[in-house]
Amino acid sequence: MKLNLLGPLKPEQAATTHPAVVSLIVDILISLDCEVMLCEDMDSINTLKETGILPVLEQYNLPFYNLREYGYTDIEVAGITYKYSSLIAMCDVLIEIPKFKTHMLTNYTGAIKNMFGCIKKEQRKETHKFLDETDFANVLCSIYSIKKPDIVIMDAIVAMEGMGPSFGNPKYLGKLVLGTDGVLVDYYCTNMTGFDIRQLKTLQQAMKRELSILKTPQEFSLYCPKEVDRNDELYRLPIYESGDRKTYISVLRRLFTIDYDVCIRCGKCAEVCPFGAIEIIDKKPKNNRNKCNLCICCMELCPVGAIRLSIKKK
Ligand code: SF4
Ligand code: SF4
Repeated sequence: MKLNLLGPLKPEQAATTHPAVVSLIVDILISLDCEVMLCEDMDSINTLKETGILPVLEQYNLPFYNLREYGYTDIEVAGITYKYSSLIAMCDVLIEIPKFKTHMLTNYTGAIKNMFGCIKKEQRKETHKFLDETDFANVLCSIYSIKKPDIVIMDAIVAMEGMGPSFGNPKYLGKLVLGTDGVLVDYYCTNMTGFDIRQLKTLQQAMKRELSILKTPQEFSLYCPKEVDRNDELYRLPIYESGDRKTYISVLRRLFTIDYDVCIRCGKCAEVCPFGAIEIIDKKPKNNRNKCNLCICCMELCPVGAIRLSIKKK
């Protein structure tokens, strides 16, 4: 089971797969005599504690598999060689349990994007240098295509809206969306929450590359709600949808803010920035806006949410 455990964040922050969902699925699998392996790529065991996954492991007496400890296999897709998790590549049945959230770089994150965590951390940093949205969407689709999940169970009970994927606002949807086609599950979830497919490069590329069993938008729409319930719509920054990444960068990087009252001086932001746009001076991180390309890695991985765009939240 590949979870989404982005970092040491609490279940109520809605950034990670909820432990109640994990527990429910583990319970069903064990009752079916399956050998269950829970996995994710993590920097520290603290993530398991904060996200509430540790008690689930203890309850069922299960180990946890940190992907980086089990090595990587070189796999080439569309001209790029990926350092892909050997553990995921060899498992019999892959069940993916992503969290449904808005994402400041890719608009949303779900089944396709969650598999990005299967490549080596250093390569994830490098691939964030792809500034063109379509290029980055293609990287996500290539990684997803290496080992398509057999079952996807999207945790959309409490989703995230606004400035996701780490420190957006929790939004109750009350839905677990299950399917054997991750592309369709993503399509369904984005459709039910008011996204327009024309603004979703990842889904567009996945459909173009035939990563789903369905072929045409008409076939996809047959499985989706005809009318979106306005209560289910996820708030997104209007500029996400502009479709013009250059404008997005030039406008929004001026709003890049580090809250020094919140910052714990861990230096992680400088470590993860693929463009060298953060320097640590006297233990304080400083952002060089001219170098920043708003890949949002630092916002995603800052453990305390000290980096954000100073845009009024809904
Ligand atoms: S400063 Fe942050 S948002 Fe800007 S390029 Fe570096 S990691 Fe990405
Ligand atoms: S990652 Fe966050 S807490 Fe750590 S130094 Fe950067 S801004 Fe501060």
